[in-house]
Amino acid sequence: APVLWWARRDLRLADNAALSAAVASSAPVIPVFLFDEAVAGLGRAAAWRLAQSLASLDADLRAQGSRLILRRGDGLPALQRLIAETGARGVFWTRSYDPDTISRDTRIKAAFSDAGIAARSFGGQLLFEPSKVRSGAGEPYKVFTPFWRAIRAGDVGAKLPTPDIPSPANWPASDPLNDWALDAGMRRGAAVVARHVAAGEGAAMDTLQRFVSGPVRDYAERRDLLAGDGTSTLSAHLSLGEISARQVWQAGQGPDGAEPFVRQVAWREFAWHLLVDRPDMATENWRDGWDGFPWIDDASHPDLIAWQRAQTGVDVVDAAMRELYATGRMHNRARMITASYLTKHLMIHWRHGLNWFEDTLIDWDKAANAMGWQWVAGCGPDAAPYFRIFNPDTQAAKFDPDGVYRNHWLSGSGARDFAAAVPVSWSIDANAPRPIPRPLAEGRARALQAYQAHRADK
Ligand code: FAD
Repeated sequence: APVLWWARRDLRLADNAALSAAVASSAPVIPVFLFDEAVAGLGRAAAWRLAQSLASLDADLRAQGSRLILRRGDGLPALQRLIAETGARGVFWTRSYDPDTISRDTRIKAAFSDAGIAARSFGGQLLFEPSKVRSGAGEPYKVFTPFWRAIRAGDVGAKLPTPDIPSPANWPASDPLNDWALDAGMRRGAAVVARHVAAGEGAAMDTLQRFVSGPVRDYAERRDLLAGDGTSTLSAHLSLGEISARQVWQAGQGPDGAEPFVRQVAWREFAWHLLVDRPDMATENWRDGWDGFPWIDDASHPDLIAWQRAQTGVDVVDAAMRELYATGRMHNRARMITASYLTKHLMIHWRHGLNWFEDTLIDWDKAANAMGWQWVAGCGPDAAPYFRIFNPDTQAAKFDPDGVYRNHWLSGSGARDFAAAVPVSWSIDANAPRPIPRPLAEGRARALQAYQAHRADK
């Protein structure tokens, strides 16, 4: 009887403990991916990006004579149907750490063990099991630096090779990927974003190799520069598991000067460990004392809409919001600048920014996004203090000194990409003069005043 490899956010064949264990069971392996609630809840860009990844995984499997079976339905019933059809005797998967998935997987395990079906889950999304990384006091870390010290020399184990996957004599039916319409929400924007995306395990490996064979050495100096590709661009690959954190971590152990890069990968790890500890991190203020802060909580506020559509008039903010919309990515420094502008100068609740990123990023990652927003807003773990308000113009002068990034997105070919990507409903005239920005000093003063008043109330 065959076994199922239930692929989720581990869309790769190499260094995949769940897949390798399925193969090691000596049974034919049926790879399956489910259109479940987690997929239905994805933002538009992330859903589109997932489709690219699934197509690539299927192609990689077919090159081995295997294939990816696509089914609709939430975990348990969909898997039960597949087991009934194929006589499968086991299900293997990589653990995910978002709170909804954890509780669903626990239910699935219990149901299968009652039914005599082997249900086995494996690590691999993260470097370390969150329950195993504890401070001297036995608590999860809440500050990054001690967390980093605790894990940097940790043993992440040996990478696993790509296995030879034995196929069953008969394949169960699969939905055609196109029927899932994962790209439906992206409208014509998808054509533009696609030019900036290389999906799949092969592309992830190429990107990693290229990065560690050279650019990684200049990472510490160049990672904050908005123009010039100083970072790895691995985030979407990591988010979908097209590459494992362990593969990235180990590749970063070699070349001189890679430590700052590996440290950044540890931020991803930290974000997930935080989310496991505080499952409501994506919706609730992480720190006490922030509930009731007078953020504007209105999803249709004109300042929010202007920010989303790159119409604030602040050059670096609009350039970054255009980058986001046209490519599905945004430079980390630009994420901090735009998030700060939204939550401080415009005083909009960070949740609205988080939601917009969730809908538009191809590298959307629940934990990194939540940690990033709360960090910038001042209410998160290890956060920047609220009163430290980025001045976007100063940031731009420092991290885009020659204006290359701003020019690209405001008047160069990036501007044309953006114009091609925006929906008609936004009715943005690309040739109209840029909006007049709000005076930065006023926004800063209002934010500081609100902060002081809120503190005085406590
Ligand atoms: P590199 O600099 O090459 O870093 C290598 C890898 O380390 C990244 O691919 C990523 O997996 C991880 N990493 C780097 N910086 C961070 C960080 N600050 N936090 C967590 N992990 C990090 N990252 C996401 O992957 N998805 C998100 O949805 C996301 N939302 C964010 C929202 C805000 C407001 C902020 C400030 C940051 C957010 N980040 C998010 C983190 C960071 O901006 C991106 O990971 C990074 O820009 C990706 O580019 P890169 O792959 O070239 O990164």
